[in-house]
Amino acid sequence: MVFLTIGADELPTGAHSWMRQQLGVTLEGEKTEYVWGVIDVCMHTDFPDARLKCIIQSSQGAMIIIPREEDKLRFYVQCSPKDRISELNEDIKNKLLQRISDGLRPYKITFTQIFWYTIFSVPQKVASKFRVGPIFLAGDACHTHSPKAGQGANISMGDAHNLGKSAPEIRILSLSCTELAWKLAWVLRGWSDDSLLDTYEIERRTLAIQLIEFDKAISASLNGCEASRYSSMLHEQNLFTSGVGIRYRSQLMVEANNREVSLSDTFSLEIGTRLPPMNIVRFADWHPMDIQDLAASDGLFKIIIFSGDLQGDIESKGLREFAEHLQLLADKKQGSILFKQFTMFTVVTEYKESDIWSFIPPFLRNWRRYSEYNKPISMTYLP
Ligand SMILES: Cc1cc2nc3c(=O)[nH]c(=O)nc-3n(C[C@H](O)[C@H](O)[C@H](O)COP(=O)(O)OP(=O)(O)OC[C@H]3O[C@@H](n4cnc5c(N)ncnc54)[C@H](O)[C@@H]3O)c2cc1C
Repeated sequence: MVFLTIGADELPTGAHSWMRQQLGVTLEGEKTEYVWGVIDVCMHTDFPDARLKCIIQSSQGAMIIIPREEDKLRFYVQCSPKDRISELNEDIKNKLLQRISDGLRPYKITFTQIFWYTIFSVPQKVASKFRVGPIFLAGDACHTHSPKAGQGANISMGDAHNLGKSAPEIRILSLSCTELAWKLAWVLRGWSDDSLLDTYEIERRTLAIQLIEFDKAISASLNGCEASRYSSMLHEQNLFTSGVGIRYRSQLMVEANNREVSLSDTFSLEIGTRLPPMNIVRFADWHPMDIQDLAASDGLFKIIIFSGDLQGDIESKGLREFAEHLQLLADKKQGSILFKQFTMFTVVTEYKESDIWSFIPPFLRNWRRYSEYNKPISMTYLP
């Protein structure tokens, strides 16, 4: 039996992962001086934008409003280092409520429910290593930053996802690693050598450093900056959150020259980035889907063939030759694991009403994965 261990054992205050300490891995960076309070409330108010995500420069310092489920609102309230406390108490709660009321003047507020509050100052640090032999660090155990970029849980799940989706032979104990282990599974099955696991640190540590730089910029800007600067930061934040702004550069996984592949005038793929969202229609039942739904996190590579307009001679010939080549390979490799390691989809540009079935080579038809994409959706969110 092979043991591979994931350390995702951070405590909310940061810098306390037992696993990281046992490994002697240090956290690099500075302890930030920014201290913030956070409080979840329901309230009545005449402030018109309470249900919008707002960043407010008030006389009391910066405040952020995040609308939450039902009528709840989360307020982040800028505090000073002397507001740091070891235990929560009513005074601090009242102080936060007072700052919100003062900060939103002349609008009036009546708080109707208080659900939760705390004061925090999170160091902006990244672990010097994410892997020590068979042990991997993931989540806050290897990167801590303020919650203002709203990225901690996102990037932590991304770490676990980078190692992969759980495989039956891997027993996962930690919550944040439930998506774990395609890379681990591939190595354990003997499908890949150990160097695949090195890509975890190359990809995720680089991203953690970028995120901490971004978090520093956001934290600094909350002390006062132009609204347009905030809005470009929020755009950048969305790119991190959705994952489409992340680009992996490990040469094991991504070609060294990092080519961009253009599929149409408006839709292109950058090698090393996530497949951007796109509306497609499944040919089999005309079910509308997003192209990302094709890429289930099941530990298998996905080959998506963008065959273009199959009524065109060049496109249909290209697809036919590709399918014949695959057919030969499949015959030659019969019984090998190669064809168990990936799944394949064909995306065509015809309208679903057209007779495309006969244009699809029989070998690809057997994959039963035809999709027809209507049109690329707006790409305005791409950098
Ligand atoms: C106020 C606040 C607001 C936030 N808002 C957002 C947001 O809007 N969006 C976002 O993406 N992120 C947000 N975050 C960050 C997010 O909560 C964390 O980044 C995320 O929870 C990290 O996940 P994790 O699995 O690495 O660690 P955790 O969720 O902290 O899980 C670690 C687990 O390990 C356990 N553990 C610790 N020590 C041991 C041990 N020795 N043995 C066994 N188990 C142990 C802990 O009990 C815990 O269950 C926020 C954080 C704060 C503080």
